[in-house]
Amino acid sequence: MSESIKYVLSENDIPSFWYNIVADLPQPPAPVLHPGTGNPITPDDLAPLFPMAVIQQEVSQEREIEIPEPVREVLRQWRPSPLYRARRLEQALDTPARIYYKYEGVSPAGSHKTNTAVAQAFYNKEEGVKRITTETGAGQWGSALALAGAFFDLEIEVYMVRVSFDQKPYRRAFMETFGAKCIPSPSEHTQSGRAILEKDPKSTGSLGIAISEAVEMAAQRDDTKYALGSVLNHVLLHQTVIGQEALIQFQMADDYPDTVIGCTGGGSNFAGIAFPFIGRKLRGEQDVDVVAVEPANCPTLTKGKYAYDFGDTAHLTPLVKMHTLGSTFVPPGFHAGGLRYHGMAPLVSQLSDLGIIKPRAYGQKSCFDAGIVFAKAEGIVPAPEANHAVRAVIDEALECKNAGTGKAILFNLCGHGHFDMQAYSDYFAGKLYDQDYDESEVAMALAGLPSVAAG
Ligand SMILES: *Cc1c(COP(=O)(O)O)cnc(C)c1O
Repeated sequence: MSESIKYVLSENDIPSFWYNIVADLPQPPAPVLHPGTGNPITPDDLAPLFPMAVIQQEVSQEREIEIPEPVREVLRQWRPSPLYRARRLEQALDTPARIYYKYEGVSPAGSHKTNTAVAQAFYNKEEGVKRITTETGAGQWGSALALAGAFFDLEIEVYMVRVSFDQKPYRRAFMETFGAKCIPSPSEHTQSGRAILEKDPKSTGSLGIAISEAVEMAAQRDDTKYALGSVLNHVLLHQTVIGQEALIQFQMADDYPDTVIGCTGGGSNFAGIAFPFIGRKLRGEQDVDVVAVEPANCPTLTKGKYAYDFGDTAHLTPLVKMHTLGSTFVPPGFHAGGLRYHGMAPLVSQLSDLGIIKPRAYGQKSCFDAGIVFAKAEGIVPAPEANHAVRAVIDEALECKNAGTGKAILFNLCGHGHFDMQAYSDYFAGKLYDQDYDESEVAMALAGLPSVAAG
């Protein structure tokens, strides 16, 4: 049996800046609009929710943004993350493809989310914030922010989507270990939550609802701000350490990816691995194919509309132009909780609209089939979200086999699945179904999109 190869960098190779793809886009991103006036929002509009340093990053056009030393210091605990050549998987598939993966499960919270949690906690602390509210889907983001809150001495309050709260009790205990509070959403704590519960006392919740609750709580207090774990430009920016490290690791391997693959929920881990490579493509330095993989029952990029929409269900957030299934759409409860979001990062949406990245959707069962092939070969149990990327990788590798030609494939193994073993149990018990989303519900949610002159 051939051995998998691990490319390890030294601490000094942690990037010193984040890469901002806005500087290399063929056209500037569509402006974010104020929901009341329909005019582009100003930094002051966002000031109640985010620290100013983060707002500046959100609107920045600079290609390189320096990573503060205290942030790099914390990242050093687990970064640079390893890049592996999956030789045993290649052998299991009998493919001429060269398969590489960047492993973000080495972070202490088990996913890539910690990369931005640490940065956001740092900037909040710097600006005197005492408390941060947030939402979490599957629990990875809540866990990452809880950990960062402990490092920077901040109170963290997490609204966790009800279906995941019930499915994953250990996530709550993990967050509480770091001193964070974890509340199932919809909750009685907020107006937005109470409004949902009144209509549907058994609501399983959604990311859109949980965002409404967290934003509402943050807007009420001066010492409290809000943090988002995906979608926004600054979050994608903070994840670019992943792809930048991979660029150096590919030099060590004396190779370069022909295809880069990531799963997309809100788009942040995908952006993290792909943007530095897409930047090189946009600047004419080196070509690459890029594939974004989403769940078939929340198919934002493949079936959604590219239009202005709200980020949350109660319509408290600004309007952003993105691929969306409609802010009132509640996806069916499947296991990749981190991918159950009605929208997609505006930057990822724009790249998809321009044809620079290619979206693809898979049902969860075939993703778990792929995840188990991967686990047996490589010894790592992927998060259910990551299984979507693995599915695409295996399909590409099998295509190479059929065509008899090799190529290099890189994907982001964005997290491990150790908190998601219930999903694996369900799979082995034959209880994992591909439940179709309700098309009439999507049609209704899309019919309710806000009308925007600039859109
Ligand atoms: C949160 C999460 C996702 C989905 O979010 P993105 O912003 O699309 O990355 C995917 N995988 C894992 C492991 C996550 O924690």
